[in-house]
Amino acid sequence: MDNDDGLSKLSAAIAEFAEQRDWDQFHNPKNLAMALAAEAGEILDHFQWLSQSEADSLGATQRHEVVMEMADVLMFLLRLADKLQVDLLKAAEEKLELNRHRYPVEKVRGRATKYDKL
Ligand SMILES: [Mg+2]
Repeated sequence: MDNDDGLSKLSAAIAEFAEQRDWDQFHNPKNLAMALAAEAGEILDHFQWLSQSEADSLGATQRHEVVMEMADVLMFLLRLADKLQVDLLKAAEEKLELNRHRYPVEKVRGRATKYDKL
């Protein structure tokens, strides 16, 4: 990852945060993948059992709590990428390009069908 992009700066700040607390010893890929999934589950927890309209219009407090869980997801994803030496922006660009081929506009516009069922 380029050192001057926002994600790299955030990744470096997270690494420093972990290093200062001697938490690097816990940040192996397995633990980080589990933490990432757990934090994603914490986002789900806010939406579980809500109606569609309730989910679309969270109150300010709950919305902020969701935003904080989203931040947790991003931070664990960045930490995992750091440990696996993955350039996340490059990987996302690669995956988006793959999805452009999997989901041609003329075939999928307005449809939510998975690529292998097209
Ligand atoms: Mg959390």
